[in-house]
Amino acid sequence: MMNVALAGNPNTGKTSLFNILTGSYEYVGNWTGVTVEKKIGVLKNKAGHLIDLPGIYSLNPLSRDEGVATHFLLSEEFSLILNIIDASQIERNLYLTLQLLEYGKPMLIGLNMMDVARSRGIVIDDTKLSQLLMGSRIVPIVARTGKGCEVLAADFASVEQRTAQPLDIDYGPVLEEAVQSLTAKIEGKQLPPARWLSLQFFEGNMLVRELLEQHISREELADLFSETEKKITAQTPAKSLQHYIRGVRTDYIHSILDQCVTKVKDVQYTFSDRLDQIVTNKFLGVPIFLLFMFLTFKLTFDWVGSPLSDMLDSFINGTLTDMLQVALLAVHASPFIQAVILKGIVAGVGGVLVFVPQIFILFFLISFIEDSGYMARVAMVMDKLMELIGLNGKAFIPMIIGFGCNVPGVMAARTIEQPNERLLTVILTPLMSCSARLSVYSLFVGTFFRHNQAVIVLSLYVMGIVVALGLAKIFSSTLFKQSGSMFVVELPPYRVPQWRTLGRSTWEKGKGFVRKAGTFIFGGSVVIWFLSYAGPSGFNVPMDKSFLAMIGGLFAPILAPLGFGNWQSGAALLTGFLAKEVVVSTMNIIYAAPDMAALQGIMSHYFSPLTAYSFMVFLLLYVPCLATVAVIKKETGSSKWTWFSIGYALVIAYIIALVVFEGGKLLGFH
Ligand code: GDP
Ligand code: MG
Repeated sequence: MMNVALAGNPNTGKTSLFNILTGSYEYVGNWTGVTVEKKIGVLKNKAGHLIDLPGIYSLNPLSRDEGVATHFLLSEEFSLILNIIDASQIERNLYLTLQLLEYGKPMLIGLNMMDVARSRGIVIDDTKLSQLLMGSRIVPIVARTGKGCEVLAADFASVEQRTAQPLDIDYGPVLEEAVQSLTAKIEGKQLPPARWLSLQFFEGNMLVRELLEQHISREELADLFSETEKKITAQTPAKSLQHYIRGVRTDYIHSILDQCVTKVKDVQYTFSDRLDQIVTNKFLGVPIFLLFMFLTFKLTFDWVGSPLSDMLDSFINGTLTDMLQVALLAVHASPFIQAVILKGIVAGVGGVLVFVPQIFILFFLISFIEDSGYMARVAMVMDKLMELIGLNGKAFIPMIIGFGCNVPGVMAARTIEQPNERLLTVILTPLMSCSARLSVYSLFVGTFFRHNQAVIVLSLYVMGIVVALGLAKIFSSTLFKQSGSMFVVELPPYRVPQWRTLGRSTWEKGKGFVRKAGTFIFGGSVVIWFLSYAGPSGFNVPMDKSFLAMIGGLFAPILAPLGFGNWQSGAALLTGFLAKEVVVSTMNIIYAAPDMAALQGIMSHYFSPLTAYSFMVFLLLYVPCLATVAVIKKETGSSKWTWFSIGYALVIAYIIALVVFEGGKLLGFH
């Protein structure tokens, strides 16, 4: 079996190619930092495995996800490297390519984004380029459509057979001498190629240094490093060894490009540039983003989502329930079984499923915004804002992913290099309003804000962001003192999203919701129904005397100042910790209404528009769901920070809901 390592810069089409070559459906997004873990797939012809590594600009890792790739090269078995180069950004991409060539494994280069390069008038002489890159086989491809990918795959076997010569760049006498003395010490050991290791070491690669420290004493290495650095900085204009090595490689790249790249026409990207000037404008950027979000919610609720939801509701609560009733009677099901199924499962699961249209429409639109390239612009706009308050600009990406589900959002924080900033992002990402919460909003806005659904939901999303930013400011100036970070958001080209990609990424985001409905919410509904059916005095008790009412009642007094001090809200919020959709299930079960219209009628006895809003605010902020808590624990590796993220959320939710309720009353809302 051969193992093919897929390596390249971020956002160059690695995952697109991976999906084509392995027939998988991994997340493709038009921005950096989408793939944070390596993904392994089986090649379609079953000849071996393909490993999709997170994107990196250099083998010298800056952040955890970048470390994944270097770690892979250092410690895993693989037979060839498939390096993806974005032809339209070839200069920057070659930096990694040189380091991979120095490694000396057989290498195949996929020259991707040929369509983009061509439209920009960039012509690459790939035969010449191949000669300059140690004869590596180069195949021009368009990963997005699959063009050329078959040719590429067909070459794996023959490239694997080749014995590759490592690329040997002359780094000048001082460094070469140092490299030689280091390679002499490690030659013959069971290690990756010695020259490559030495160069990486002098470049400051921590993973390589750690590896070498297992064989050579720490002091010896440190001395060698500092002596060499001293000489280099004295003899050359470079400020550090890393700087020097980078300079040599960059010159090398220029000499390659001079020989094989020509620009046939001077393309002016005026349209894209002008668009960027507007959407990333200091003053207009945020309002334009808000407008986009507003339209998104308008579509999600008013224009498309709610009518679809109503249809689904009449199907579930009408046709489906009737059929089930007939079927249950036909099999002479006991009244207990009938109640479990109709009042527990259909109410609980059906109540949540009714909102599937909204959720998928929202995900579809978010995928569209992502894949078009606009989201990266938003990240750039937010970057300026975020740095002001002590968050890394990259923190916005986990947050956007968190809109889908907080779990992958928290994981996406791995792209952030600075440990403190990463921790802060992990802790704040759960404040992003996820799709599970959307189902609760859908229920409430449909009941209490029929004519302003989009605005109300938008306000909650914005509130999540604002609270996160506010807390970031507070936490970063108290808990996490930190050094400044550097981050350049990269602007990918605008692209017209493809249906296939959109469909996939919508499904990727939404499938968790559907799956949860079938498992967690299903089980939860049965339990909740049972708790509402049984009480201290036996079974089939009036709902107010049930265990559920007792448990919920414990919280009612605490919630009273927020405007919703009834046991029903207490019970719903408690179960909502399992998964926030469960709030909807619980309410459907408790209020036992035959359909959505009836449910809305009953709910208006318990909530007013003001208390409904206060409830939604509380639900947005109060605590990350169980799955998110688990991933926070995993990512931070610390119980302290896990408890902290639950604790601060409860406190802040209580305070803000209180302010909303009391403030609202003062302003005359009710
Ligand atoms: P990764 O970050 O390297 O894994 O890149 P992805 O596979 O996630 O792709 C990044 C973006 O580039 C997505 O929007 C893809 O649809 C797009 N893309 C990938 N390959 C091509 C290509 O050959 N041409 C064009 N125009 N776009 C591409
Ligand atoms: Mg990827």
